Amino acid sequence: MNPPADSAALSPLDDVRARIAQSCRIARRAPEGVTLVAVSKTKPAEAVLDLIAQGQRVFGENRVQEAQAKFPAIREAHPDVAVHLVGQLQSNKAEDAVRLFDCIHSLDRPSLLAALARAMDKVGRRVPLFVQVNIGAEEQKGGCAIADLPALLGEARAADLPVEGLMCVPPAGIEAAPFFALLARFAADHGLAGLSMGMSEDFETAVTLGATHVRVGSALFGARHA
Ligand SMILES: *Cc1c(COP(=O)(O)O)cnc(C)c1O
Repeated sequence: MNPPADSAALSPLDDVRARIAQSCRIARRAPEGVTLVAVSKTKPAEAVLDLIAQGQRVFGENRVQEAQAKFPAIREAHPDVAVHLVGQLQSNKAEDAVRLFDCIHSLDRPSLLAALARAMDKVGRRVPLFVQVNIGAEEQKGGCAIADLPALLGEARAADLPVEGLMCVPPAGIEAAPFFALLARFAADHGLAGLSMGMSEDFETAVTLGATHVRVGSALFGARHA
């Protein structure tokens, strides 16, 4: 999709916001229904602070250790900043993740579900979760298999975990829309309102198909070299 004609005059943040708003208009959705998660992985704290100064409040990281190094100091100065985990999580880091993150987008297996339930009890903090679905049935990709989704959601409900929705990263290099539409259907089938889908290359498509959370990195921060 083409950015608005005046995008040259906009900061990357304003440009992404304008494109989300435009996609909301096309889909007749309220822009407040879309949370922009600014994915700051590999980027220094200064880059995060720069976006905070422009009004951005929700960030995403894909590694527990990197987020632990960056965000406690940032949040000391800006207590209203939220940080979401968008990358895979090892069960032995569940407690660290529950202490640090405001939302975890990568619940994908029963062992992690059990570890998160224990960690939330121990820490006394309920962290909203998204179940990541391997929507393209790719060998190497994270996410629970489509066939395993009903059982995993059932276990999450039995454990009273706060599952808000589904998350996916579609296969690279092919049109993402059918995968976004499929994820939206699974979420509706299971009565889940949240849809974490769409990255720099395809967040507008994701918004038109119902994304409630778009995870945008390079369009905001520039290309990653690490
Ligand atoms: C890195 C990452 C993003 C952001 O990717 P961009 O293409 O830079 O926007 C989104 N989601 C996940 C899970 C990621 O790992």
